[in-house]
Amino acid sequence: MPIRATVWGENVHEQKNRLVAELYPKGMHGALVDALNADPEIRATSVTLQDPEHGLTAAKLAETDVLLWWGHVAHGEVSDAVVERVAEAVWSGMGLIVLHSGHFSKIFKRLMGTPCNLTWREAGERERLWVTAPNHPIAAGLGSHFEIEYEEMYGEPFGIPEPLETVFVSWFQGGEVFRSGVTYRRGAGNVFYFRPGHEAYPTYHLPVVHQVLRNAVRWAHNPAKRIADPNAAPNVPVDKALEKIVERGGKLHAPGEEGFR
Ligand code: ZN
Repeated sequence: MPIRATVWGENVHEQKNRLVAELYPKGMHGALVDALNADPEIRATSVTLQDPEHGLTAAKLAETDVLLWWGHVAHGEVSDAVVERVAEAVWSGMGLIVLHSGHFSKIFKRLMGTPCNLTWREAGERERLWVTAPNHPIAAGLGSHFEIEYEEMYGEPFGIPEPLETVFVSWFQGGEVFRSGVTYRRGAGNVFYFRPGHEAYPTYHLPVVHQVLRNAVRWAHNPAKRIADPNAAPNVPVDKALEKIVERGGKLHAPGEEGFR
């Protein structure tokens, strides 16, 4: 059974900006879907901000192995309830790949717990991505480095927690560097942030970027059964303890009480 990838596209610039519409006539999400579907082991579909519940219903998340997220101008329009639903899906085992300006998306900040801020410049600079983890599955087939001729600069310091793994470090023509490919585990979910993908440039038409994204979908996929309720915090009564114990000391909670949240 192929890996089920869902591309979430903000789909705002594609509708309002001629440059972006010409670069991505099927939307950025459309370009990403085509790139992923070139791999017979991946079956990708897309949803957008404008869909009911932004396309991220409980049913859609249940049949999504890996969610990809591209957003920029409309982070604030994403409903908090949907963000929480996506976070729970990640904790349950769904993979998440956050792209480019998604560093400021509600879902990425929710899962990182840090500001996720950075420095930036839109000047069409050459970006050279160095592979810092050559044996990592996300870097499969890439060699020591690759280049993107036109990109927006993102520079350090990047306000993220220390990554589980740093797969790519970028150098930009202006001299800045950036941790461009970083992994995390959040609950049972694998999370990958990948920096390239400014909407004014044809980044998502580049074969090397397609390769990274297909590798990342395979890496992020957790084939284990989802955790049914990742927020469950059950009380274990004294008589259910594996070893026999006698209750002692003071007590705050009544028997069978749900506990505080
Ligand atoms: Zn950008």
